[in-house]
Amino acid sequence: MNQLTSSGYNIYFDNTLSSLEHFLAENSYSKVFIITDENTGKYCLPVLQNKLPNLDNYDIIEIPYGEENKNIDFCIGIWKMLLDFGADRNALVINLGGGVVTDMGSFAASTYKRGIDFLQIPTTLLSQVDASVGGKTGIDIDSVKNIIGTFAQPKAVIICDEFIETLPENQVVSGFAEVIKHGIIADNAYYNEVVKLASPKEITIEQIKRSVEIKNEVVLEDPFEKGLRKILNFGHTIGHAVESWSLENDSKSLTHGEAIAIGMITEAYIANKIGMLSDEELNIIKNDMLKFFPKYNLKSDIYDVLLEIMQHDKKNISGKINFSLPDKIGNCKFNIVVSHDLIKESLDYYRNI
Ligand code: NAD
Repeated sequence: MNQLTSSGYNIYFDNTLSSLEHFLAENSYSKVFIITDENTGKYCLPVLQNKLPNLDNYDIIEIPYGEENKNIDFCIGIWKMLLDFGADRNALVINLGGGVVTDMGSFAASTYKRGIDFLQIPTTLLSQVDASVGGKTGIDIDSVKNIIGTFAQPKAVIICDEFIETLPENQVVSGFAEVIKHGIIADNAYYNEVVKLASPKEITIEQIKRSVEIKNEVVLEDPFEKGLRKILNFGHTIGHAVESWSLENDSKSLTHGEAIAIGMITEAYIANKIGMLSDEELNIIKNDMLKFFPKYNLKSDIYDVLLEIMQHDKKNISGKINFSLPDKIGNCKFNIVVSHDLIKESLDYYRNI
């Protein structure tokens, strides 16, 4: 079986979904609940039903799609459904969806009756390569993302790349930013391999597996983000700030991946300016990003707002803006404090590309 091992559970790369059948046969759950959103209920549940026609004894809990629904109100809805349908402590929740479903479904499961078992079947590229491992569950309060949550491990993760076929193109591209990031922070050969793809849609299950493997190795070494795990935030300090600003202000806001791509270019520039990253590798990163992510019209009059957002970044220490930066393509350092002036200079660099 094509699989990886994480903290006490397996991650299966399994287009047949037979690992789910085996898992259910080996564990006698009192009840099984599948959580979907409207889209994964429409596109992914039929795939699962088609592959596993004998799987029929489950209830479905469907939530509306979208980040704005990853909140306490819909979480209460999930808890109530579990209660109404008689979920006891021996029930299983299967999260079938993107990061919104896997984050909120696992938060609901990890708190219902002080925690019941859950299993992740991520259906977006982003949730497969990122949200599926690491044990972070969570919901948002207003625009503050993932502010309420738990660390809780699933019983298994099953990755089937066939789900990606129905995923809108912009969502595939968005997830691809995390794939490239994994290459930059940990594996030069993998980076070179994925940036050569003509389109993110061409990503293979082996490449998805390598990405998951990189994240898995990092989170196994630092499960609670005390140190090394911060390298996963490369591109996210500036990227998150640009993403938050865009969500509030743009009529067509940036996807997560588009914002992180801007973050990776600007943060690579910072790494170069402080003498960590060579001119040549900065250019490689910049050109590869622009191949997959169109240039964004970043306005110079929002720099102070972006800095203000960055001040609230969870990696900061004593109020100083803290970065994770590569010293070459394939390796990353963390806890690097950068001045506001250099951050602004990196935004100028992006605007003038
Ligand atoms: P998402 O769950 O909102 O999915 C994106 C869109 O694709 C939604 O409209 C969804 O309905 C649709 N969709 C999902 N799978 C589909 C499929 N196979 N076919 C057609 N449509 C499909 O977003 P996402 O990008 O998967 O995840 C973003 C969320 O993940 C954020 O809330 C973020 O905080 C979270 N996240 C968590 C972690 C973690 O470690 N827990 C890591 C990264 C991101």
